[in-house]
Amino acid sequence: MGKVTGFLEYKRVTAKNEAEKERVHHFREFTGHLKSGEISNQAGRCMDCGIPFCHSSYGCPVQNLIPEWNDLVYNDQWREAYERLEMTNNFPEITGRVCPAPCETACTLAINDSPVTIKQIELEIIEKAFRENWVKPQLPDSETGKSIAVIGSGPAGLAAAQQLRRRGHSVTIYERAPKIGGLLRYGIPDFKLDKRVLDRRLDQISAEGVEFVTDANIGEDISARYLRKSYDVILISSGATQARDLTADGRELEGIHLAMDYLTLSNQYIDGMIDEKRLISAKNKRVLVIGGGDTGSDCVGTANRQGAKSVHQIEIMPKPREWKENHNPEWPFWPAILRTSSSQQEGCLREWGIVTKSFSGKNGKVNKVNFARVEWIRDENNGRPKMQELKNSAFSMQIDMVLLAMGFVHPEHNRLLTDLEIQYDQAGNIITGPDFMTSVPGVFAAGDAKKGASLVVHAIFQGRQAAEAIDTYLIQEQKESLK
Ligand SMILES: Cc1cc2nc3c(=O)[nH]c(=O)nc-3n(C[C@H](O)[C@H](O)[C@H](O)COP(=O)(O)OP(=O)(O)OC[C@H]3O[C@@H](n4cnc5c(N)ncnc54)[C@H](O)[C@@H]3O)c2cc1C
Ligand code: SF4
Repeated sequence: MGKVTGFLEYKRVTAKNEAEKERVHHFREFTGHLKSGEISNQAGRCMDCGIPFCHSSYGCPVQNLIPEWNDLVYNDQWREAYERLEMTNNFPEITGRVCPAPCETACTLAINDSPVTIKQIELEIIEKAFRENWVKPQLPDSETGKSIAVIGSGPAGLAAAQQLRRRGHSVTIYERAPKIGGLLRYGIPDFKLDKRVLDRRLDQISAEGVEFVTDANIGEDISARYLRKSYDVILISSGATQARDLTADGRELEGIHLAMDYLTLSNQYIDGMIDEKRLISAKNKRVLVIGGGDTGSDCVGTANRQGAKSVHQIEIMPKPREWKENHNPEWPFWPAILRTSSSQQEGCLREWGIVTKSFSGKNGKVNKVNFARVEWIRDENNGRPKMQELKNSAFSMQIDMVLLAMGFVHPEHNRLLTDLEIQYDQAGNIITGPDFMTSVPGVFAAGDAKKGASLVVHAIFQGRQAAEAIDTYLIQEQKESLK
């Protein structure tokens, strides 16, 4: 709860970030930190609201015990605050950096005031815990003799693996990429998440006894059938990596890239894994980013850092309404309002209600993109929003590089999933029961592969829940075999 009158005494204070014009010259993190006294005051704003919506289903998806650690931070009991935090979240140093913080829009203070700086407090707790060396490997008390293969090393697979290993199971993570981390490593750029932060956590997971096997594309390099025979359980946490593409004339022209192809190479270059020649570079180019979500934002931030001449970002949907107040107009729900990411603040022209009609080029390279403006009306037949092109609204832009960031449709329906005969829902995601088990006994699924493209915090939560379900399944199996 913090201090009873804290919310009346202290205003919300956020950390100061490095200035935009300076941070665009490097790929390092640029977010600031609050001083210890300031954090205590901010935690003291937590107001004993009775029903803490921040950790209800409207708020934090991992159900962090937010009011408890706010109280502990306010009372200078940082170690206890860390112990509460790690009870619910395997990677608070990651959510504390990249989570959109639905906890804050659900904070009771957000009804008519600015919310508690929950995400910043989460980050300060875990960073202090690392500095003080409180974050130690947690070894299981005994070994169960059961084995689990986790396929995919994003936040869902990592959280599940860590939880299962701590229960004494033997866990191996298989990853097709050269390094562990999924989209934490190859999607999210370093300026949002320094990869040393990820490696520091991987050291702990490895010290706890989880085995990592990289460059192993399951279904191709190793058959899913072999894994089925070799392990008691398989967990599929292979993400929702099938990108939504654009079917428009000229799509085949050079200079038009899927966002993840672009971001993966940039992340590998920053990591020293590839040289500059292999990079897709925006240097001195007029860049168009199609799609306005997280991925599009990361393309904007990366293109600006690479020295793009200009960056445009377009979105097919209408412009959301602007809201200048500090409180949440749709409390406790996540409000549908205009948001500007730190990358967009760094410089980018954004436009809404635009559809891409075709690409034109010279000598096989894109040099122009052709658009039309659209409006969204209600379909008379089913009441759903329907896109309608505006008459005489065609226009073009001179563009040298296009990044397609229109989201992801579902997991790749590749040999891993077809060999296992996994069933999908209507959206193409893996169907599971409430126990996270797929249509195949002993094969579980979690994270984006099950939910569709989502957020890190959801992937962590699903990884934890799947681990719980797998542990229960293995205990049940053991009991059956002893009968
Ligand atoms: C560019 C970008 C930026 C994002 N930014 C944010 C953000 O700021 N905040 C946020 O909360 N969320 C963000 N997200 C979403 C978030 O990263 C994902 O929701 C989350 O990573 C999903 O976790 P996951 O473990 O389910 O899958 P992933 O992180 O996608 O990991 C899946 C892993 O499985 C591996 N794999 C797939 N098939 C196989 C196979 N057959 N064999 C072996 N390995 C395989 C893949 O290589 C990958 O490493 C972003 C996403 C993108 C694309
Ligand atoms: S994980 Fe996200 S929603 Fe949960 S407390 Fe942290 S910032 Fe808030």
